[in-house]
Amino acid sequence: MFFKNDDDRFASGGREKKLKTIPLLPLRDVIMFPHMVQPLFVGREKSINALEEAMSKDKGILLVAQKSAKTNDPAADDIYRVGTIGAIIQLLRLPDGTVKVLVEGKKRGEIIRYLPRTDFFQVEVEEIEEDDDANVETEAFIRSIHATFETYVKLNKKIPPDMLVHVSSIEEPSRLADTIVAHLTHLKLEDKQEILEVRDPSKRLEKLYAMMQGEIEILQVEKKIRARVKKQMEKTQKEYYLNEQMRAIQKELGDKDDFRAEVQELEDKLREKDMPDEAREKVEREIKKFKMMSPMSAEATVVRNYIDWMLALPWNEVTDDKIDIGECEKILDEDHFGLAKVKDRIIEYLAVQKLVGKLKGPILCLVGPPGVGKTSLGKSIGRATGRKFVRISLGGVRDEAEIRGHRRTYIGALPGKIIQGMRRAESNNPVFLLDEIDKLSSDFRGDPSSALMEVLDPEQNYMFQDHYLDCDYDLSKVMFVCTANQLSSIPAPLQDRMEIIRIEGYTEVDKLQIAKGWLVPKLAEDHGLKEVEMAYTDEAILEVIRHYTRESGVRSLERELGSIYRKIARRVAKEGTELSINIDGGGVHEYLGVKKFELNECDNIDQVGIVNGLTWTGYGGEIQTIEVSIVPGKGKVNITGNLGDVLQESAQAALSYIRSRANDLELPEEFYQKFDIHIHLPEGAQPKEGPSAGISLATAIASAFTKTPVLCSVAMTGEITLRGRVLPIGGLKEKLLAAHRAGIRTVLIPKANEKDVPDVPEKITKDLEIIFVEHMDEVLKAALVNGEDILKTSPPPRSDGEGSEGIKGPERPSEPVPSQI
Ligand code: ADP
Repeated sequence: MFFKNDDDRFASGGREKKLKTIPLLPLRDVIMFPHMVQPLFVGREKSINALEEAMSKDKGILLVAQKSAKTNDPAADDIYRVGTIGAIIQLLRLPDGTVKVLVEGKKRGEIIRYLPRTDFFQVEVEEIEEDDDANVETEAFIRSIHATFETYVKLNKKIPPDMLVHVSSIEEPSRLADTIVAHLTHLKLEDKQEILEVRDPSKRLEKLYAMMQGEIEILQVEKKIRARVKKQMEKTQKEYYLNEQMRAIQKELGDKDDFRAEVQELEDKLREKDMPDEAREKVEREIKKFKMMSPMSAEATVVRNYIDWMLALPWNEVTDDKIDIGECEKILDEDHFGLAKVKDRIIEYLAVQKLVGKLKGPILCLVGPPGVGKTSLGKSIGRATGRKFVRISLGGVRDEAEIRGHRRTYIGALPGKIIQGMRRAESNNPVFLLDEIDKLSSDFRGDPSSALMEVLDPEQNYMFQDHYLDCDYDLSKVMFVCTANQLSSIPAPLQDRMEIIRIEGYTEVDKLQIAKGWLVPKLAEDHGLKEVEMAYTDEAILEVIRHYTRESGVRSLERELGSIYRKIARRVAKEGTELSINIDGGGVHEYLGVKKFELNECDNIDQVGIVNGLTWTGYGGEIQTIEVSIVPGKGKVNITGNLGDVLQESAQAALSYIRSRANDLELPEEFYQKFDIHIHLPEGAQPKEGPSAGISLATAIASAFTKTPVLCSVAMTGEITLRGRVLPIGGLKEKLLAAHRAGIRTVLIPKANEKDVPDVPEKITKDLEIIFVEHMDEVLKAALVNGEDILKTSPPPRSDGEGSEGIKGPERPSEPVPSQI
């Protein structure tokens, strides 16, 4: 191969090649096509040199793309082989040394070889002639391309619509493809280069067609996505716009003024309120915060609630204490029958308070069964001292926050029960009744009793901290009174701060008095029957007490009488107030229906293995029937009826005693190995605790083995030792009241409890035959039918030496144990 000059024609393979030697301008990121006019900014020195050479020779310049735009100093390999031979239309040197040049593409050109020049690329190029001979296939492609380009322009908004007119006027296939491809902005550089390299116009159109179809698909998907995004945008924008409008409307309607008035009102209230400085500063700070908030915001409501609480609490408001001891006595007597000891204690408490002028004594705690008037005594104290009265129930409170409140950071936080009570009291020195303090429980949420300790401690409670208020509140002027059913369930540290006043159950006579003097007049008033002439006979009320209630207090009595009153109210509402109603014993059944309880719950028959025990719980005394039956077996002991551990042990102790007295009771040898014993305590819904059923269990077992009936008119209570000694028990008064209620005639009680008998109302002790017992043998003698004859042999061992029992051995159990004293 050799070259004569620039214009040499060269023939090869039967085709003539038109060769040209021209400079080359490598292009970054752009492909030049024939018929295209393109401005270029040229900065690279080699490129500027090439342009200058082209300008000076005026033979055109080859514009070829670099394979990678990033290559700064490309070698021949970095440049595509096919480009476009262009003419320079205009050249402008810019002050920074670069050149702006406007070039027009003329023809395709393919590099044959690079010529050895170092200041710029000089290449030998073959000029490619286009063959625009149209055939049918090309014609079909031209039409399809026109239609596709139209679709493309519609989808791609970046192409000006007049391009469509311009393109549709092009008929030559070669030009058509080049013009269109120059406008396909999304096409990749390599794809464009590929089109440039196709020499056959018809093939070029085919390739372009396929590429355009692909592009159209992408554009369609893009369009869909755009539409979807636009829709979402519109929705959020709409909401924003509407919210803004709403705010503007609220503003127009004067919401702002309301808010300002509200703030003003709070500020006025604060100015008039008498409260400690610390609290005042807190409220001032909160009002300031409140002012800066949007009135509709959630935070504003929280702050507003807090301010309301602070302003509503009685900080320094007090009611005048008017402690006139005579007047107090009168009021307490007016409100309650009996309870002399309790009333005395309350009066003493008030007297000290009057003299000292402040409350620093222990807190009163009224302990007793339900319905004995603990709550209503609290109310009376309020009335007697002229203080406000509030009550909160602590039953089931297990979370410290219920006493002390939640911190304000919690949603829906509120102050605790104490502060809520104070708000209700509206004064800083009310009588504050903490009801059912024995029903407090504690779990992982904290121990409410520790919070209560702070409340009840006069040394601490002048600065009680509620979590919600978050500032000290003075409780030292409050007179706290607690109530409980059972002393043992009150946490010990709390008991320590209290003075316990026990209220025992009422006797039948007490109940009758209470019903006549207090309940009946109160019920008449409550039911609007004050005007109606009504008379009850004592029998009628006693009938209700005996056969419709079984309780230590008078709550059920009040309820049953209330139900009579409701029925009377119904008659009166129908027939008018002129009625005169007399209710006697028989009349009660008309109103209340069938008797709920029979007086004597034992069957009035002396039976084998059935004993009346006496038990005592927080709800008062009860008769507890104990049943024992024996069946042939292997000496197993079954104990049923919801028994606590202590009772199980009592049963075992009772059995051991019987075994030790087997000879005297004339029981066959090894009797306990040939029989199974079943001990049952019926009505077992509530667990039975306490050791005081010992002698009853032993009596029932002895009766069952000896087949001797137990006197049904006898009831008993007492703890038993293995040797049969009877130990003292608690709750004697309640137990005797229960025995009396149940129509028992004789009660067996431990000798050691003799000292408690004076506490029991005389009426009861007179009606009951009380036998004091020291040993189980005495019990059996008194309780079993023909008991005197059964234990004929040795006298009961009178011993305190329980410790020596183990040494004695079972064979000679009845031998008297020498006293150790
Ligand atoms: P507690 O708090 O001990 O369970 P309450 O104080 O609720 O009992 O008393 C129940 C009802 O019995 C109240 O209506 C109360 O007035 C009345 N009551 C109890 N004891 C007496 C009494 N000694 N004199 C007059 N009414 C009494």
